[in-house]
This record gives sequence, structure tokens and C-alpha cells, in this order.
Amino acid sequence: MSKPPLRVKIYGSRGSYSPTTSNPTSIGVNTTCLRVDLGKNTLIFDAGSGIINLGRDLLKEIHSESGSAHKWKMNLFFTHLHIDHLVGFPYFAMLYFPKSEISIMGPRILDYEVAEVLDSFMHPPLFPVSMDDLPFKRDYYQVAESRVTYFYENNFEMRSVTDPEPENWLGRVSCMRNYMHPKGGSYFYKIETREQSIVFASDTEGFVGGDKRLIKFAEGADILFHDAQYRPEDYGMFQGFGHSTFEMACDVAEKAGVRKLLLFHHDPKHDDETLQTIEREAQKIFPETFLASEDMEFAF
Ligand SMILES: [Zn+2]
Ligand SMILES: [Zn+2]
Repeated sequence: MSKPPLRVKIYGSRGSYSPTTSNPTSIGVNTTCLRVDLGKNTLIFDAGSGIINLGRDLLKEIHSESGSAHKWKMNLFFTHLHIDHLVGFPYFAMLYFPKSEISIMGPRILDYEVAEVLDSFMHPPLFPVSMDDLPFKRDYYQVAESRVTYFYENNFEMRSVTDPEPENWLGRVSCMRNYMHPKGGSYFYKIETREQSIVFASDTEGFVGGDKRLIKFAEGADILFHDAQYRPEDYGMFQGFGHSTFEMACDVAEKAGVRKLLLFHHDPKHDDETLQTIEREAQKIFPETFLASEDMEFAF
């Protein structure tokens, strides 16, 4: 079987909120959003403010590239539903076209379904347009550790982890529940092809010795995106807030034997200079460490 093209692009890597500093930034201002193209499948992780630019790019691609009609179809995975991972959703252009087909994949957190949260988020008086008014086609899927989503040529199916592995899959997405984030936790995702794997582990607070479950989940990954909101000197004030220091991220990367570590969920108060210092310090621990920056792309 030929190798499916796998491409990852960062549309937002800031944590909590978009920085309002007047300092120019090369890291970007948008909150969490990752795009993964797997063959003809478009996978999106979180709908932070970064998803607004992603929507624009998709429309441009649909209009300028012939044969890109499949881009009306996409899978939107949520790690959890904190506002910085959701805030771009109402402004995601693809919601406003009847041709769009969005499979919304997310966990049930604190007894809330993703559908309920989106319905109450996109509703007057918070937003003038209700979910019910939007023309896009949608389906909701609940993600859980017991389920794997398999992707084929241009479709997907969710199966139980105990089901036999199907043939001809191009890629698959599995998840791990993370308890180290306040009020219901978050989910980590692993996107795999038969040759590569990418692990997305944002919004987590590490601990001494590393998160053993995450280390196992990320074992040998080509890229690990890991929360690194704090410097060790900031951490004392923010212990228990559900975010990691870059040292915690490096510890997991080293123990999991990943090839590349991307520091993620940058503190909005950190300017480029501070972030570049964090990157240099982190590289002393794990040399293949980089700041996750907007527009960064990886192709396999
Ligand atoms: Zn967050
Ligand atoms: Zn969060």
C-alpha cells in the first residue's frame, strides 16, 4: 500500500487567551488549533482562535484547486471544552456553507456532551446565530479511550479498541484521558499512520518522574506536542492550574523517546524573547525541542 501524505500545520499555539501585547510576535497570537491532512481527510484539533485562519485557508483551497471538493468534509476533534479551545468556533467559515460536512468528535466532560456545549455557546445573547440556524451538515461522535477512529481513502469509522483491526486504513486516531487538568480533565490524541505518529498533549500538568501513562502513549512518536505554559520560576504560583513547565515537557519527551518535542500552550504574557529563552533552556535538556509557532508545518 502506498504511503498516504501526512501533513501537520499549526494554526494556534497560545494558551488561555490571545496575547494583547503590542510587541510583535513571531510565535503567533492565536489559541489552540492544529490541522492534520491525512490523504484526502482533513482533521482539525480544537477550535481556538486559530481555526478562523484555517477556515479561510480551506475556502481558498476549495476555490483555487480543482479536485479539492473533498475539503468540504472534515473531522473536528476537541481535547476538552475550555473557552480557549472553543473561542474560534463561531467564526469558523465552514459553518456557514450547506456543502460543509463536519464530524464533531469530542469527549463527554462533567456530564456535558459537546453538542450541548456548542448549542449553548452559539446562542443569543452570547452570539447572534444559533447552531440550529447554521446550514452545515453535522454529526457528533463521542471519543473515549475505548474507541479508535480509523481513516480510509476519504471516509472514516469509529470502532471499539477490542474490535479486530480493519484492513486498508490510512491512519487512525486514538485518545487518552488526562486527569491532570481542572474540572473534568482533557484528552490527548495520537494520530498514526502505519509509519508515523504524532501525539497532541496540551492542557496537562506534569509531575515528578513524568506522567507514566502519557510516556507510554507517546512512546517513539515522531512529534510530541506538550503543554509548556510555565517557566520553573513561575510554577510555584500556578501549581494546580493544570499546565506544565518546559522541564516537565522535556522529561516526558525524553522518557517516551520521541523524535521531536514541540512546546505548546504558550503563556500569553510571554513575549518572543521569553519564549526563545524557554526554547534554549529546553534544548539543553532535550535538544530536539522547538516552540510550536503559528504556520509551522511538518510533512511526512
Ligand atoms: Zn487551554
Ligand atoms: Zn484547558
